[in-house]
Amino acid sequence: MVELPSRIGILPFRNKVLLPGAIIRIQCTSPSSVKLVEEELWQREEKGLIGILPVRDVAEGSMVTQGADLGDKSFKNQQGLSDSHKLDGKSQQEPYWHTRGVAARALHLSRGVEKPSGRVTYIVVLEGLSRFSVEELNTRGTYTTARISPIDMTKAEMEQVEQDTDFIVLSRQFKQIAMELISVLEQKQKTGGRTKVLLETVPVHKLADIFVASFEISFEEQLAMLDSVDVKVRLSKATELVDRHLQSIRVAEKITQKVEGQLSKTQKEYLLRQQMRAIKEELGDNDDEDDDVAALERKMQDAGMPSNIWKHAQRELRRLKKMQPQQPGYNSSRVYLELLADLPWQTTSEEAELDLKAAKERLDSDHYGLVKVKQRIIEYLAVRKLKPDAKSPILCFVGPPGVGKTSLASSIAAALGRKFIRISLGGVKDEADIRGHRRTYIGSMPGRLIDGLKKVSVCNPVMLLDEIDKTGSDIRGDPASALLEVLDPEQNKSFNDHYLNVPFDLSKVIFVATANRAQPIPPPLLDRMEVIELPGYTSDEKLRIAMRHLIPRVLHQHGLTSDFLKFPEEMVKLVIERYTREAGVRNLERNLAAIARSAAVTVAEHQHNNDNNNNNNNVPLNRISSPLLETRLEGGGGAEVEMEVIAMGGDVNNHEISNVFTIMSPLIVDEEMLEKILGPPKYDDKEAAERVVTPGVSVGLVWTAFGGEVQFVEATATAGKGDLHLTGQLGDVIKESAQIALTWVRARANELDLVSEEEKNLLEGRDVHIHFPAGAVPKDGPSAGVTLVTSLVSLFSRRRVRPDTAMTGEMTLRGLVLPVGGIKDKVLAAHRYGIKRVIMPERNLKDLVEVPAAVLGSLEILLAKRMEDVLQHAFEGGCPWKHHSKL
Ligand code: ADP
Repeated sequence: MVELPSRIGILPFRNKVLLPGAIIRIQCTSPSSVKLVEEELWQREEKGLIGILPVRDVAEGSMVTQGADLGDKSFKNQQGLSDSHKLDGKSQQEPYWHTRGVAARALHLSRGVEKPSGRVTYIVVLEGLSRFSVEELNTRGTYTTARISPIDMTKAEMEQVEQDTDFIVLSRQFKQIAMELISVLEQKQKTGGRTKVLLETVPVHKLADIFVASFEISFEEQLAMLDSVDVKVRLSKATELVDRHLQSIRVAEKITQKVEGQLSKTQKEYLLRQQMRAIKEELGDNDDEDDDVAALERKMQDAGMPSNIWKHAQRELRRLKKMQPQQPGYNSSRVYLELLADLPWQTTSEEAELDLKAAKERLDSDHYGLVKVKQRIIEYLAVRKLKPDAKSPILCFVGPPGVGKTSLASSIAAALGRKFIRISLGGVKDEADIRGHRRTYIGSMPGRLIDGLKKVSVCNPVMLLDEIDKTGSDIRGDPASALLEVLDPEQNKSFNDHYLNVPFDLSKVIFVATANRAQPIPPPLLDRMEVIELPGYTSDEKLRIAMRHLIPRVLHQHGLTSDFLKFPEEMVKLVIERYTREAGVRNLERNLAAIARSAAVTVAEHQHNNDNNNNNNNVPLNRISSPLLETRLEGGGGAEVEMEVIAMGGDVNNHEISNVFTIMSPLIVDEEMLEKILGPPKYDDKEAAERVVTPGVSVGLVWTAFGGEVQFVEATATAGKGDLHLTGQLGDVIKESAQIALTWVRARANELDLVSEEEKNLLEGRDVHIHFPAGAVPKDGPSAGVTLVTSLVSLFSRRRVRPDTAMTGEMTLRGLVLPVGGIKDKVLAAHRYGIKRVIMPERNLKDLVEVPAAVLGSLEILLAKRMEDVLQHAFEGGCPWKHHSKL
């Protein structure tokens, strides 16, 4: 605490306040102030004090202290100093002296002489020390002096206030806000923690003055601060002011940050672009990426997207434009936009007025037979013609490979004048194959449907969903459920491909599906489709198809005509019987193609010979010895010949070949040629007869994805303990059938005379082994029941089953024969194998109507109700029973 003198020289501060603790540098030039500094500070030996008293320029109203917060120290001159001025006889216009000031000491003094006047001036650095109140002011001397009294609290008073809870709360508040201000300032100016030391060392009532003095506030506020003699009032005022200052710094900071941020971002981009341009120029790389993007935009505009999708596309395009081509994501974004632009949002192929007669003619000219199927297709087309927007069913062609499912679908497209696209679903297990991957995945792609539509580039094609029965489901989702959405006319208006991420309207697409079997198709999917079965062809039908459709096509494909190569019907029949045993005609077509290929080689070889030896004219071509062909054929390999021909490619020169043939007689396919090209016959009628030579073998008819098949069953007995062994890749159902068959036979061993009187047990000391040959092919299903029993009865009775007889039927434990599926295919298969008699369940009689009459005519169909009927038909001379079963 500083001892204040009772009289003090006064330095007036115009519109300004010096608070205790504040430091100020002033220049004194007026004669009075120079005199004051000289006498009170400069010439004194010990350090003197001067009083700083605020003065308002013009007395506008009263400048009396606000009075309320004067504290304990009573102020003797409450009316302000105007009175004393009056007493002094000064006019009202004189400056208005404040009644409270601050005693200050000089921290630094320097004296100067102003040139040329020679006036002395002083520069003084003052520090405010403590408040005083003016008792009386004397302005008569060269400088003003005043009688003063101290108003700051004494030490004892201070100690008492420090106990006050209000004071404690107030000072804590103040310190907290002061601390915040310091942190903000330190952050800004990166100064060290010097100011923080102040907070801990200086008493809080002084701190209040120091803080307020350090920032700019109005004169009124300064005066109010000066007048706050009570420390509690001073603290709350200071807290308020510091807080305000803090807020204003923060706001200012935010604004500068924003401005700075914007500046630096645009500046950075600008700089980078400049650099890039410079690099490109340097490299001579005039990338016309911008042109490409513009072209893309034009393409998008022409794509006819619906408005919501167009908006989405534009958003994506804007993003693309902002990116640099090197930036990750640029390419994927571009590829995506290309897809959006390429998709046929509205493009359709012109649908000509549907001419049903022409459509029928077209179907007839493309396909032989299939009368019912073609009829159904015509009905389908007729409905579409009458009511184009009707929800027509989705046709699903079911049948073995090579029966014309795909080519029928493409004929539908041709009849409707629409484009055709085939989507292969075989082996599709991942839902993403149908629906695409989301674009968040690296290497994501659209699903097969959207991809197909992009390729075909119209939104109303005929879309063939090929092998719909071969889709499976696993952990990667269920493609069938995605297909459900595709095939549902209610839902496919907005088909959602994950990659595309915007709905695409599939409702204009005509879907057609194909499957080898209907059974593996999930029921909900099957429910949406109308199944049309194509059972496979008889030999006769195949012959007709070959003569009318396959041979002309094969000849054309190899650059030949019937003038060069002739396929006699007899030979085609041989190819069908000896080299193919399929339900469809695909292998037949392949074999015919092999013949055509080797004929093409012959022609090419001959031409070569002809060029070298011109007098070879008029020698029939099929007599020409062709060294190359001979060696190839003797080598026995269709495969080698094939290679030779592939080398010729599709570039066979029709013109040159026809030149050769104008002077040749045509090459006629004969049996010898067949053997040379196709190898020794693969199948014959005698297979069954050869295999059914010993007791224990029977001939069954089964149904596979390739249509009907003949399946042999072999049973044999060995020494053992009565066990049953089964081999040949069998499923559970067929294994159970074998158990049932064995039980049935054991139960009737006596009646069938399979055991001698003493033996009683059929399996005494022996095991039974049943084998289904073609062990690599999985087999299952109940329809082998009757075949199994027949082979067991044959084994134990040691009688041969008739080799010309094949059978099918499920059997119950009590010997009833139950109907089975796929009768038509099975009967056709039997026919292909040259079987003459077929035993089948009586209740399957109705299925025979689907079998072509020609086939039925060549077969003896034997119906069975019970197992005994089957056995009766299966053995030569019937099956003798001791007495009929009562079961
Ligand atoms: P799928 O799709 O049933 O496996 P495709 O439609 O591919 O069979 O037919 C195989 C080949 O057989 C094609 O070249 C097709 O033209 C021909 N084809 C099948 N059935 C007939 C038929 N009834 N008439 C004419 N050609 C046929």
